[in-house]
Amino acid sequence: MTDRTADPQDPRPLIGEPLSLDLLNTRWSGTPVNDLLAQPDGHAVWLSSAGLAGRCRADEAGLAALHEAREALAAAVGDLDRDGTIGAAALAGLNGVLAHGRLRRELGPVGPVSHVEVDGPPWLAAWLAVEDFLGLLEQGPHRIRRCAHEACILHFFDTSQNGRRRWCSMAVCGNRAKAARHYEKVRG
Ligand SMILES: [Zn+2]
Repeated sequence: MTDRTADPQDPRPLIGEPLSLDLLNTRWSGTPVNDLLAQPDGHAVWLSSAGLAGRCRADEAGLAALHEAREALAAAVGDLDRDGTIGAAALAGLNGVLAHGRLRRELGPVGPVSHVEVDGPPWLAAWLAVEDFLGLLEQGPHRIRRCAHEACILHFFDTSQNGRRRWCSMAVCGNRAKAARHYEKVRG
């Protein structure tokens, strides 16, 4: 899980957020909405950028599991955006994916180790993504945020000291917003 060098073929505007949000960020704004998982080889490119290419196969069953995880995460994050609590439907979606795996703990010669066990290889990436989301909730649900640009659907985990990150990227959405404000001012 440490190899998170973006795949050179990855076309997404934001790469490298924690795994759960990185899965959500396979969709980004456009007309129609861009979807890496819908592109040829997009599944393989995502696994590569997520550092999972060696552990997961880009097959149909794996893609179906990822879609299920992404939908569940989108519903949960949508609830967080609204009032900060995750509703029953979104909980059922997340727990449905989590039910396909578990962590097995063991004491090895150099210390404790955790093994991820899933019902079958296609569930690994999906399970890891939802499990990652639980970790973010433990660290601070208020830091799970959608980009403040109204046309942007990207999400990030705000790790800034003051907790005031607003944009997926300053270079893209931050500057777009700044330019729009400037335009309004000039127009009066
Ligand atoms: Zn943005």
